[in-house]
Amino acid sequence: MAAKREKSFQFVVIGGGIAGVTCVEELFTQVPSADVALVTAGPHIKAVTNFRQVSRTVEEFDVEERPSRVLQEKFPALTVIHSAVKALHSVETEDGGVFGYEKLCICSGGRPKLLIQDNPYVVGIRDTDSAQEFQKRLSKARRIVVVGNGGIALELVYEVEGCEVIWAVKDKAVGNTFFDAGAAQFLIPSLEAAKPQEAALCKRPRYTTEENSHKHGGWTNPGSALGPDWHQGIVLRGAEQVRQSDTSGECGSCYALHTHLPLFPVSSVGSWPVYIQLTNGKAFGCDVIVSAIGVVPNTHPFLPGNSFALAEDGGLQVNDHMLTSEPDVYAAGDVCTACWEASPLWHQMRLWTQARQMGCYAARCMAAGVLSKAVELDFCFELFSHQTRFFNYKVVLLGKFNAQGLGSDHELLVRCTKGREYVKVVLSGGRMVGAVLIGETDLEETFENLILNQMDLTPYGEELLNPNIDIEDYFD
Ligand code: FAD
Repeated sequence: MAAKREKSFQFVVIGGGIAGVTCVEELFTQVPSADVALVTAGPHIKAVTNFRQVSRTVEEFDVEERPSRVLQEKFPALTVIHSAVKALHSVETEDGGVFGYEKLCICSGGRPKLLIQDNPYVVGIRDTDSAQEFQKRLSKARRIVVVGNGGIALELVYEVEGCEVIWAVKDKAVGNTFFDAGAAQFLIPSLEAAKPQEAALCKRPRYTTEENSHKHGGWTNPGSALGPDWHQGIVLRGAEQVRQSDTSGECGSCYALHTHLPLFPVSSVGSWPVYIQLTNGKAFGCDVIVSAIGVVPNTHPFLPGNSFALAEDGGLQVNDHMLTSEPDVYAAGDVCTACWEASPLWHQMRLWTQARQMGCYAARCMAAGVLSKAVELDFCFELFSHQTRFFNYKVVLLGKFNAQGLGSDHELLVRCTKGREYVKVVLSGGRMVGAVLIGETDLEETFENLILNQMDLTPYGEELLNPNIDIEDYFD
C-alpha cells in the first residue's frame, strides 16, 4: 500500500465523463481563481465540442475522448488525479492519496446492468474498452443476441454487419425507451435497407494508452460512458463476411422477439457456446449475448461510512441544487437521481445531454455556495429535450414525447411520410405536452415554443400537422 498523500482543495470533482468535465469547466467560469481537483479512474476525459444551442432547450454537440492534459492546459490551476476513489470520508484513492474538499461533486456515471454476472458470453457495452472487447468477440461471431430496447440496442442492431442478430425485447414495440409503436414502424425498414456509406471521418478521436483499466475487487474501474457515435471508428462486423445489405434469409437480419426478459443464459449445450432462453419459451444458441438493459449508478465506493439517500433506481438522490443528502456533496450525471419536484414537462433520462446540463448546473450551485450567491433551477430542467440520430435519421424528442405519466389523458396527432419523416405530437387538455420529430422536419423550435407557452391548440385540431401549412410562419 502506497504512503498516504494528503492535500485539500476548494472543489473536488470525481469522474472525467461529460458531467465531471463540464462541472470542472463551469467551476472555473464561475470562480476563475478556483482551486479544483478532478479525480478520475480512467486515463482519458470526455470533452464536449462543437456545442450549439439549437433552440431554448434543444442542444447539439459532439463528444471527444481526450487525454486529461488537454483540460490541464486549458485550466493550469486544475489538478488531475488519475486514480479510482475507493472511499469517501475525505476522498481516498486507490493509490493512497487522501484529498480534503470544501465542496465535492460525484460524477462517477453508471455501469451496464448485466443479465447475469461473470458469464464470459454476456457482455455489456459502456466505455471504449468494453466496446473494443465486444468488437473482438463479434469478429468471430456468427450469431449474437442483443437484449434490451434502449438506444444502445437500437444502434447495435442497425450497425452490426456480417452476423445474424437476434434482438430480444420485452416491450410491444422496438425502441420503446424512445419511441412508440408508430415511430418504431417508421424506423424498422431502415434495418433492412442498404446503409449509406459511412464518411471515413471519425468525429471523436480516440486515444490509446499503455495504462489499462484496473481490476479492483472483481470490479473493473470504468472509463466514461460512450456517446451516440460510440461505434464510429469501430468495425462492428461478425465472422460472416457479408454486408447486411447483400444478405438474404437470416444472415444479418434482425428479429424483434416480443417477449419478456430472458430468464437465464444457459452455457455449453449443443453446438453454440451459449444458449439463451426467453420467457416466450424460445431458446437460441449464439456466440455472444449483449446485455443492453440499462445502467446501474456507480455509487458503491461512496456508500460505506456515509449515509447517502438512494433513489429506487440506486442513484444518489439530489435536490434542486444537485446536493445529495450529505453536506457539501453534490452529484451530477448518470450517478444521480433527480429528486426535486420536476416540471411537468421534464423527466430524467440517463443521456449525455442531461449529464452536461447537470454537471454545469451543479458547478453553478457549488460556486454559489462559496460566493454566497443564490441560484435558481436552470431553465433546461423546464422541458425535456434530446436531439440524437437513430438509423441515420435526426431525432428530436421534446417533453412527454411518449405521453409518459399521462395515462389515458392525452391524444396523439401523427404525420408520417415513409422514408422521410415521422412527426408525432402529444396533446393533453388541448395543449401540446410532447413531440417526437424524426427526419429533417425543422419543427423543433416551433413545437418547443408551443409546449413551453402551453397555448390552447384546440381550435387548430389536426391542421396542426397539415403539411401544406407553414406552421412556423403561422405561430410566429
Ligand atoms: P460517464 O461518462 O460514465 O463518466 C463517469 C466517469 O467517472 C468516468 O470518467 C469514470 O472513469 C469515472 N469513475 C467511475 N468510477 C470512479 C471512481 N470510483 N473513482 C474515480 N472515477 C470514477 N446518451 C445519449 O444522450 N445519446 C446516445 O446515443 C447515447 N448512446 C450511448 C451508447 C453507449 C454504448 C453508452 C454506454 C451510453 C450511451 N449514452 C448515450 C449515455 C451517455 O453516454 C451517458 O448518459 C453519459 O455519458 C453519462 O455521463 P457521466 O459523466 O454521468 O458518466
